[in-house]
Amino acid sequence: MKKLNVLGSKVTVKIKKIPDDRNQDGYSYGDEIVIDPRAQDPFQVYLHEAFHQLNDRLGIYRTTVNKDLEHIWIDTAATFIAENILTIYQTYNKLKKNNR
Ligand SMILES: [Zn+2]
Repeated sequence: MKKLNVLGSKVTVKIKKIPDDRNQDGYSYGDEIVIDPRAQDPFQVYLHEAFHQLNDRLGIYRTTVNKDLEHIWIDTAATFIAENILTIYQTYNKLKKNNR
């Protein structure tokens, strides 16, 4: 599988079951994202973890940004893209075509 490019860092994305006792739909650690396919919305979880990777690259954890606020932003952006990915992609194609 092609790796995700997060501001120049290659991130591996794995789809695998996470033990139930961890009570997580996904996680991001180092250069790896793991998504549990049993999550209610695995694509939203994927985006959520990808945004954690982005924040890590930006060094958000070294600022005073509150963890709750970070999660509000991450979840909002992930839900927005998950709900609009097809429209965004169609518009991307249309704009690309008109720009030739
Ligand atoms: Zn999170």
